[in-house]
Amino acid sequence: MQYKIGCQQRPLQIAIIGSGPSGFYAAEGLFRQKEFHVEVDMFERLPTPYGLIRAGVAPDHQLIKSVTKIYEKIALRPEFRFWGNVELGKHVTKAELLERFDAVLYAVGAQVDRGLGIPGADLLGSYSATEFIGWYNGHPDYKDMKFDFSARKVAVIGMGNVAIDIARILAKTPEELAVTDIPQHVLDQIRRSQVEDIYLFARRGPMQVAFTPPEAKELMELEKAIPVVNPTELKLEYFSEKILEKSQERRVIQLLEFLNTISKNDPASKPRRIHFCFRRSPQEIYGNKGTVCGLKVARNELFEDEEGSLKSRETDVFEELGIQLVFRCIGYKVEPLPDVAFDSARGTIANIGGRVVEVGSQKPCPGEYVTGWAKRGPTGVIGTNKPDALETVGFLLKDFRNRETEVNKRPQEEVIADLLKTHQVPFVPFEEWKILDQLELEEGERKDKPREKVTTVEEMLKIIQEKKSEDANHGK
Ligand code: NAP
Repeated sequence: MQYKIGCQQRPLQIAIIGSGPSGFYAAEGLFRQKEFHVEVDMFERLPTPYGLIRAGVAPDHQLIKSVTKIYEKIALRPEFRFWGNVELGKHVTKAELLERFDAVLYAVGAQVDRGLGIPGADLLGSYSATEFIGWYNGHPDYKDMKFDFSARKVAVIGMGNVAIDIARILAKTPEELAVTDIPQHVLDQIRRSQVEDIYLFARRGPMQVAFTPPEAKELMELEKAIPVVNPTELKLEYFSEKILEKSQERRVIQLLEFLNTISKNDPASKPRRIHFCFRRSPQEIYGNKGTVCGLKVARNELFEDEEGSLKSRETDVFEELGIQLVFRCIGYKVEPLPDVAFDSARGTIANIGGRVVEVGSQKPCPGEYVTGWAKRGPTGVIGTNKPDALETVGFLLKDFRNRETEVNKRPQEEVIADLLKTHQVPFVPFEEWKILDQLELEEGERKDKPREKVTTVEEMLKIIQEKKSEDANHGK
């Protein structure tokens, strides 16, 4: 017997890949509308949900992390299932999901760093933002990283919010960090930090930086570190002044005010300094016995290209700095997914408004959708993902309006559990993540911090297993 897809007897079945903000906003959008009955199965590579919120947002930004309370409410709906520890391409294939779901919605973010492409970028002591952020946020992939905090001078390449996050974490004292959810093993390494000078490098001028005023303001409130800039760096070129006069962009005006204020700071007033350096492009990272020992930068000048945007170009003036650690924060890249159309020119999953399309012909790939950074590229704040997800969900629902199919013979939960069991995947449902969550919160409470994260997948699975056995023994 045929039923309309989305009726009570035959809900619209959606698989969402990735459990970060874009995935949860897509689920929220699917549940909020009233036209279709929807069931969502969310697949996540790690046993833990929330993607970038858990592993990307800085540990001292707990207010931003509290958005997970909203995501948890979504996850606890009866029409929602979480399948943690399941990786697309490794444990399940796209074809297997498309066979079992009406649609697959990719919400996988942008997982890798853009390359800096200069000599020395791969030396020991030169790290990508992903590595450092993953490490200080307790991401299992980066648990065993070691950073040499005997370094006194550190370079942070790029001037977006990621660079500011990294500079702030490097600048904070162990006491400032101890009250965050930074993992214990990270704090133990940071305690040994000898860092004195953190140099942030932008290839263009003060008007073109990518970070935002609230993040800048936080740098003025650090216990033992002070942001500084040489006033001569703040002189705007003719083009920049012209643009500012016309646009009067509030964010830029606030940032220029911030930079003017800090140009009056006394660098000797605190033991650590965050230096804002403009119009400089890294040329080479110098090494000694394979380890970073210096950085060569070129002074840049700005010019207006044919489209009227301001670009940087290197001059023949160079500077060398005795840097011992480098963090590369020049933006992320979306990684192609197995068998999923990828638009190399845009650097995203190939899509129009969130409908995945074939590269070249632009014909829709039936049943495939995308949202978040994987759809639009790595830009915007957490909230930007909400309207983005709603756009994708809107197209998805439109595509399923008035479609009919046979009713499912078995509940979807059984179908998916069987598929994963066939592949011998030790999947983690949401109630098992909650075991881990509870334990992390309790451990955090003991240490006067928001949570103490478990940082290896093996340990996570062991804890869950032990608790389940304990409950079984107590007849729960
Ligand atoms: P981003 O905002 O795109 O900033 C990248 C920075 O790297 C820019 O200053 C860019 O300069 C520079 N850059 C790019 N290529 C370069 C090169 N080859 N050499 C030197 N510099 C180069 O990226 P992001 O900082 O990784 O942040 C990603 C997104 O996450 C952003 O939307 C950000 O706002 C968001 N985020 C938000 C928060 C928060 O709200 N607290 C925290 C972290 C991240 P040009 O402009 O000259 O290209």
